[in-house]
Amino acid sequence: MARPQTSRGAATPPTERDACPCGGRSFDDCCARYLERGDIAPTAEALMRSRYTAFVRHDAAYLLDTWAARTRPATLDFDDAPQWLGLQIKAHRQSDETHAEVEFVARYKVGGRAHRLHERSRFERSDDGRWHYLDGDLFD
Ligand SMILES: [Zn+2]
Repeated sequence: MARPQTSRGAATPPTERDACPCGGRSFDDCCARYLERGDIAPTAEALMRSRYTAFVRHDAAYLLDTWAARTRPATLDFDDAPQWLGLQIKAHRQSDETHAEVEFVARYKVGGRAHRLHERSRFERSDDGRWHYLDGDLFD
């Protein structure tokens, strides 16, 4: 998921015990293991969820770290970041050991208006077992 171009509106990062932004029961039991404790996301879907949570928490280091080197931006800032409202995973397809696609809808708000980002993201797994976001196709 690359970030959509939007106007200002920062989200407040959740605390450890709050529900995970990706929809998991609590941040601590969900994406915190990847964002804060260094665990390797076992599937592309888990990585997708953790990256969504990283967008919500403005965790640029994690996002860059989980982005494939050949499509990764040099830097990432959250100056124009939208307020993320929720993530829904539509499909997760792993075509082989090192390639997977995740289709999702992420809802967000800009200037009081709600929008949907519907994307099919591609992920690659490197030799060390880590999944990385490669790129994605947007649905209309
Ligand atoms: Zn989560």
